[in-house]
Amino acid sequence: MIYVTKPNLPPFEEFSEILKDIWDSKWLTNDGPYHKRFEQALAEYLGVKYVCLFANGTLALVTALQALRITGEVITTPFSFVATTHALHWNGITPVFCDVEPDSCNIDAEKIESLITPKTTAILPVHVYGNPCNVRKIEKIADTYGLKVIYDACHAFGVGINGDSILNFGDLSVLSFHATKVFTTFEGGAIICHDEKMKKRIDFLKNFGFADETVVVAPGINAKMNEFQAALGLLQLKYIDGAIEKRKNLAMLYRKNLSDIGGIRMLGEDTNVKYNYQYFPVFIDSAAFGKSRDDLYNELKNNNIFARRYFYPLISQFPTYKGLSSASPDNLPVAERITNEVLCLPLYADLDEDSVDKICRVISFRKQ
Ligand SMILES: *Cc1c(COP(=O)(O)O)cnc(C)c1O
Repeated sequence: MIYVTKPNLPPFEEFSEILKDIWDSKWLTNDGPYHKRFEQALAEYLGVKYVCLFANGTLALVTALQALRITGEVITTPFSFVATTHALHWNGITPVFCDVEPDSCNIDAEKIESLITPKTTAILPVHVYGNPCNVRKIEKIADTYGLKVIYDACHAFGVGINGDSILNFGDLSVLSFHATKVFTTFEGGAIICHDEKMKKRIDFLKNFGFADETVVVAPGINAKMNEFQAALGLLQLKYIDGAIEKRKNLAMLYRKNLSDIGGIRMLGEDTNVKYNYQYFPVFIDSAAFGKSRDDLYNELKNNNIFARRYFYPLISQFPTYKGLSSASPDNLPVAERITNEVLCLPLYADLDEDSVDKICRVISFRKQ
């Protein structure tokens, strides 16, 4: 069986030593020593000013919107994991779906302005597959119209652009350390922010709104990362560069093997971007390829290869959201097309080259 991903974990002995330490100290959560160390080490690793650790990425997204007091309407992408839009829903905010670019799969910055209304307060783009959004254009629109920008950077751990972290753009960025992500703390997440006051406010919000023992400044939530998650995160930082390097080599092998197959499109790579190789998406043009994306998906499955259709269906196609006027397929022609073309192939640090070759043989089989 080859699954789309498999978590990268440090040697068990290293984690068990830490477990013993936490056991003996009996400090399990609430800004403990491992939490403090991980927060610091992570900010250094990522090249950002402030990190606020969270129990998971979804609660970090919900809290990021609270921290900036976002209300009304927020312009976002339908081509993402459903939690992006759910975070708006949990804040009573109306999502406004904007179409995406075919080349990056990210929100099409050229189409944002036409969706702005007097109720719009923010933009919530996603760096899909870790590909950077058009951050300059988005910043320009936000500045012109007085909007906040929160990046769902759940795919973008360690991604850089022109030598700078992609997480340094926008008002806030949100990471996920879920088991399926390139960097995992079992479950986990973070908000990246650029000033100390904001960090303080976010830290209050993730702990019920407590500013001190007796003062509650807002109806905050419980979204704290515990010591076990933080300790794993601290260990993972030792191994992440090696894991990304392995992913990169496998991604290059996929590119080489698949480059001559008609009807398969792969995303371009920009030399100014440092990628994390979180996913390896391919796009199937069924006319040119000779079969549909779903046929290929099933054929791989029959060979015990479990690729995933990230992201299908679109968020705007789910019953909860499809009644919104911006969810109309007419508004989202590119997203509607690529959701039927995309297939994410297995990619993780422990995957071996023979498996990549095997997957590519199954893909090319009926073409010969
Ligand atoms: C994983 C993911 C989330 C949610 O993160 P969790 O840690 O699983 O809560 C949100 N947005 C995107 C784009 C994701 O991939």
